[in-house]
Parts: sequence; C-alpha cells; structure tokens
Amino acid sequence: MPTWILHTEFRFDSAHRIDGYDGKCANLHGHTYRVRVSAKSHTLNPSQYLKTPDMVCDFRELKWASKDASKGGLDHAYLNDLLPVVTTAERIAEYIHQETKKRLPDGIELTVTVWETPDSWVEYTDAD
Ligand SMILES: [Zn+2]
Repeated sequence: MPTWILHTEFRFDSAHRIDGYDGKCANLHGHTYRVRVSAKSHTLNPSQYLKTPDMVCDFRELKWASKDASKGGLDHAYLNDLLPVVTTAERIAEYIHQETKKRLPDGIELTVTVWETPDSWVEYTDAD
C-alpha cells in the first residue's frame, strides 16, 4: 500500500502553570516548546491551495500552533487561558492533535510530539 508521511517541526514560546501541582511547576513559568507533527496517509488529497489530489495536506495546516496567539496559534500565549485542560505536556500534545485534526482531510493518521525541555517529550497519536 502506498504510504506518505509528512513531518514538520516548529517551536513556540509560552507561559503556563500546572494548576493543582504540589511543587514548583505550580508557579508561573515558561518553556520553548518544540513540536513535531507527522501526518500519514495512504491517499493524496486536494487542499485549499491546490485543487488536484497531490498532497497529504498543506504543511501550513500542520503548523498553525506556531503562529502568534493573537493569530490563533500558541506562540507567546498564556496556555492556561487558551487550553480547556491542565497544561501538562501530555495535554498540550493532545490539544494540538485535536486542533490539527480539524484542519485535515479525513483518513490521515496524526502523531504530535511535544518537547517541554530538550530531553523530555511526549508523543500523542491516533495510530494503532
Ligand atoms: Zn512547565
């Protein structure tokens, strides 16, 4: 079966605090989050910018979270105000996954990896 897997990476800087955490993570602080988004598909699709079915999806749809918070992304945001969940790396990855999925054609398997520090990351996927 033909398979295409798009990968893209970006970073964003944001502040957060972990509500309910018994320790320093409860204090307001920031991270430079690194994000990798991978989109796997067995078919190619048209997009808003290309009418013929020749891409898995637009790279720009995978990178929405890198935009400034005032433009709908997560850069220079206070994550606790934007996300309806506790802002652990696990939940941020889940949130980016859900919001990215809404921008993609059906049938794409999506994996989102979020680094909170250079040596600590989490992967969230709808792959089996
Ligand atoms: Zn933190």
